Amino acid sequence: MQFKKTRPVMVGKVQIGGGAPVVVQSMTNTDTRDAIATISQIVELSQAGCEVVRVAVPDKIAAEALPRIIEGIDLPLIADIHFDYRLALKALEAGIDGLRINPGNIGGKDKVKQVVAAASERRVPIRIGVNAGSLEKELLSKYGGVTADAMVESALNHIRLLEELNYREIKLSLKASNIPLMLEAYRKLSTLVDYPMHVGVTESGTVKSGTIKSAVGIGALLAEGIGDTIRVSLTGHPKHEVHVAWEILKALGLRRRGVELISCPTCGRTQIDLIKLAEQVEERMATVDKPIKVAVMGCAVNGPGEAREADVGIAGGKGVGLIFRRGEIIRQVPEERLLEELLLEIENL
Ligand code: SF4
Repeated sequence: MQFKKTRPVMVGKVQIGGGAPVVVQSMTNTDTRDAIATISQIVELSQAGCEVVRVAVPDKIAAEALPRIIEGIDLPLIADIHFDYRLALKALEAGIDGLRINPGNIGGKDKVKQVVAAASERRVPIRIGVNAGSLEKELLSKYGGVTADAMVESALNHIRLLEELNYREIKLSLKASNIPLMLEAYRKLSTLVDYPMHVGVTESGTVKSGTIKSAVGIGALLAEGIGDTIRVSLTGHPKHEVHVAWEILKALGLRRRGVELISCPTCGRTQIDLIKLAEQVEERMATVDKPIKVAVMGCAVNGPGEAREADVGIAGGKGVGLIFRRGEIIRQVPEERLLEELLLEIENL
């Protein structure tokens, strides 16, 4: 996969763009003013594989909670701020590692200047986050509604404000819940600028439907080499966002983390309770962080061959199953011992 070369920016200790691996990020849904609840959710996200985390900073009390939150976590923290430049200044003072704010919406050049000066001093990057749902009125009338060109122009206008101040620690996102629109906007903008792209599908839906929408939208762009960091947005606990983000990266072979489960769809040849077995394997593997491929296949006829690239796997038979490693059968065990024997084999790897 040929990735578009972008400028690198540092969000705390994590590099985004410039050839770095695609970074997984998520956003808390706790009340940021409640530092303890926010810290505990960030710790959970970190354990799930989140690499950069964002919190909403809607008011002064939330901004005042930031120093405490930063102290309690080990992930780079991004403050998400709308309209109020004073909150951005407070967040920067608190020691955040990244800022998400649209410079065109904070009330004039002087305010942009103050935020940029404070961000520059601390080398904190700013993400310009254009959202199809909140495009400027002038652009909506110029383009006759929400279009990819309107989104790109909005981003370019915000970029210009920062570039005029000689500020280039920029990341960009062009989110929409409409996939073709979002794809077109990212594709167009990525030919015009070389800032790193934060890719996501906004308001994508619940864990079930949003997973599919995000995988299609984010996956399509990554497959074209566009995207330096991804955020999956789901209506649910944000740890699901992190899991889905990793599944997208693993599916494209871009990153490896934890177990990749290969399981067959079952068919008329299946003679064991494979669906239950695959679910149990997935559950038991959830905490394993070795980057391995595990296959759970229904039959010995096709199983080991179909899952040849798996590090280890099982293939069901009648009342028994085979344990195989990289396509080679190593032993036969009774059905009720298959799960334990597979776990043992994983331990041995
Ligand atoms: Fe059917 Fe065997 Fe293929 Fe599973 S591995 S779908 S049981 S042929």
